[in-house]
Amino acid sequence: MAADPTQALTVLEQQRQLLVDEFIRRAWNMWKSLDPADWWNDAITQGVGAWITQNQIAFVKAMRRLGVTYADIALGMAGVNAEGQVPEYIVTRANTDPWAVSVRPSDEYRHIAVRNPDIRPEAWGRLDEAAGNAVNIWLDTALNRLTDNANTDGQIAMNSAATKRFQGSGIRKYRRIIHPELSKTGTCGLCVVAANNVYGTADLLPMHNLCKCTVMPITASHDPGLRLNREDLDRIYKKAGGTTNASGLKSVRVEVVNHSEIGPILTQSQWRREYDDGTPAPKWNIPDLNMTRTAFTRMYERANVFLTHYRNVMDTGEEDVFHFEGRAYRFRPSPHLKQAMSYQTAWLNYLRSSLGLAA
Ligand SMILES: [Zn+2]
Repeated sequence: MAADPTQALTVLEQQRQLLVDEFIRRAWNMWKSLDPADWWNDAITQGVGAWITQNQIAFVKAMRRLGVTYADIALGMAGVNAEGQVPEYIVTRANTDPWAVSVRPSDEYRHIAVRNPDIRPEAWGRLDEAAGNAVNIWLDTALNRLTDNANTDGQIAMNSAATKRFQGSGIRKYRRIIHPELSKTGTCGLCVVAANNVYGTADLLPMHNLCKCTVMPITASHDPGLRLNREDLDRIYKKAGGTTNASGLKSVRVEVVNHSEIGPILTQSQWRREYDDGTPAPKWNIPDLNMTRTAFTRMYERANVFLTHYRNVMDTGEEDVFHFEGRAYRFRPSPHLKQAMSYQTAWLNYLRSSLGLAA
């Protein structure tokens, strides 16, 4: 670890991006191994999703460890002893579970591919130009979903573990630190404005899509965040062409609203608090160990039900269509069925041992 704490934090920020990129790479390699027909086969997408979820949980744990290391350096800079237990793993989202989030790239793929029902290739090669272009858009859509989710989950994991550590060390307030150097498109104007805000350590940092902000503790004598933010702000204002843009940014009204899954998000406009059909979105609660256990129990039950349907398709060689948790599933025969089923079995064992259930 570098002697200069600011430098140490920079190293951790680089490690964060490496962890995110590595998880995306692993997950995307798995999705890329699918044949075109596999994307429409729930037996394959759910099996692959199960494998990816195990990787996602390991990724979230690593991000949480990084968040604690980050917090300890930040606390040291403020002259505070780092204390307090931080759970190794907490789900990142309410009102869903990690497995449901892991299969979303395939949901996105289907959502966009249904617009071209005449393009249903058997294999990725030998496509004419129009079909090739369409298929590339489907795959890009899936990759974008994966990338957004990985960034969001990593961000929540790191900052929630860090704020928990602050809380355990007696810190009650913290500040948002923006990172223009980590953002390809520059820091979002909402984050720049929100950098002047102070948050309570019992609350999650309000974020937005592809947010790179981190957290710094505030004590009676230390507010290291303010100094860093000032530098970052000045850099951004300079880049934006001077003070006019700065006042322009400050005039933006930033609202914080609760997204039903990821909690507080920064927005400029009214966030939709309902689904497309008009039913209100469920209320968000901060994820904790109870919520984590509930999500694992639900995934365990789903994995058990799915296994009987894998066996059905294996035994009969026929498509199996069923409903579960309000969703229709189509498990179809495929050369990759056996592999998908083995991912599913490994996943079931993983969930069983995570829940401390006997085999
Ligand atoms: Zn941000």
